[in-house]
Amino acid sequence: MAQPLAERLRPKTLDDYIGQKHLVGPGAVLRKMIDAGRISSFILWGPPGVGKTTLAQIIANKLETPFYTLSAVTSGVKDVRDVIEKARSNRFFSQASPILFIDEIHRLNRVVEEILYPAMEDFAIDIMIGKGPTARSIRVAVPKFTLVGATTRAGQLSAPLRDRFGILFRLEMYKPEELAQIVRRSASILEIDAEDAGIMEIARRSRGTPRIANRMLKRVRDYAQVRGGGVISLDVAREAIAMQGVDELGLDKVDRAVLGTMMDKFGGGPVGLDTLAATTGEDAVTIEDVYEPYLMQLGFLMRTPRGRMCTPTAWEHMKRTPPGQGNDNQLKMEL
Ligand code: ADP
Repeated sequence: MAQPLAERLRPKTLDDYIGQKHLVGPGAVLRKMIDAGRISSFILWGPPGVGKTTLAQIIANKLETPFYTLSAVTSGVKDVRDVIEKARSNRFFSQASPILFIDEIHRLNRVVEEILYPAMEDFAIDIMIGKGPTARSIRVAVPKFTLVGATTRAGQLSAPLRDRFGILFRLEMYKPEELAQIVRRSASILEIDAEDAGIMEIARRSRGTPRIANRMLKRVRDYAQVRGGGVISLDVAREAIAMQGVDELGLDKVDRAVLGTMMDKFGGGPVGLDTLAATTGEDAVTIEDVYEPYLMQLGFLMRTPRGRMCTPTAWEHMKRTPPGQGNDNQLKMEL
C-alpha cells in the first residue's frame, strides 16, 4: 500500500531534519546523547507541527530501537497494556531501550499515569488472571523504556512529571530559509516543479512551521495545476496563498481577528486571554498554543502580567492607528 503523503514527507534521518541546531547540531546536548547511543527520558516542547514526533522517531531509527506511541489524551489503559505487550514480544537487538513517545504529555490522564509510571520504575506490571473469587494478580516483567514526552505547554507540566523526565528540550519556530529547505525537499519528493522564488514565498508565509509549509505547498501545487501550467512560480504562489486568506507575513484569518479585536475593542490591550477568547469566538487553549507563538515571534504581541498587548509594529501591519496617536493627537492640540 502506498505510504500516506505526510509519512513520505517526514524525514527519517538527522541529515534530513532541517534546523533545530541548538538541539541536534554538532556539540548540542541532545546530539551528544544520540551519538553516544544512550539517551535518558526527556521532553520536547514546542508549538504543534514543529517536528517533535519526527525528531523522536529519527532518534529511534538512529538507535535502531523500537518506537511506540501513546496519546496522553486519547489512549486508555488498554492502549498502555497493548504497547507494553508489544514491547515484551518484540525482539530487538539494540543496546538502547525502546522509545515510548507520549504526545501531549501535559494532559496525561490519571488512570494511564497510574499504570504507566510504576511499570517504568519497577519494570513490571500486575495483570489480573481469572475472574471473581479465583482471580489473582501476577507480576510480569516489562522492558525498560526511554520515555519521550511531547508538549505544547511546558507551563502545565507538574513538578513530579518534570523530575521524572529530567531534561526539557525546546524546539524553535523555523526561519524562512530553513522552511525553504524543507519545502524544496518536499517538492522534490512529490515531484513538483517549483521555482526558487515560489518556494521562498511559501516558506515566508508558513508561520515558521514545517507542517504548515508542507500543507501550503500542496495547496499551491493544486492551484498551479489549474492556473500555472503546473509550475510554482512567485506569482502562482502569491495568488494561491492569498486565496487561502493568508497575508504577506503568513497571518491567517484567526491571527488577524485576534489582533483586530484587541485593537478595535480593547485599544490594543492589555486584555486577558479568556476575554480575548470570548470576543473572537476561539478556544483559549488554541489561541495560546497555535496563534500566540507566531504573533510573539513576529514581535506583534507581548504577554504582560495584566494581559496581552499589541506592539506598535502590529498596529502598523494591521494598518490601524493606536489610540492617542494620529487623529487623536490632532484633536488634543485643537482643544
Ligand atoms: P509535532 O510532533 O511537533 O506536531 P511533526 O513532527 O508531526 O510535528 O512534524 C510535522 C511535519 O513537518 C512532519 O511530518 C515533517 O514532514 C515536517 N517536519 C517537521 N520538522 C521537520 C524538520 N526539522 N525538517 C524537515 N521536515 C520537518
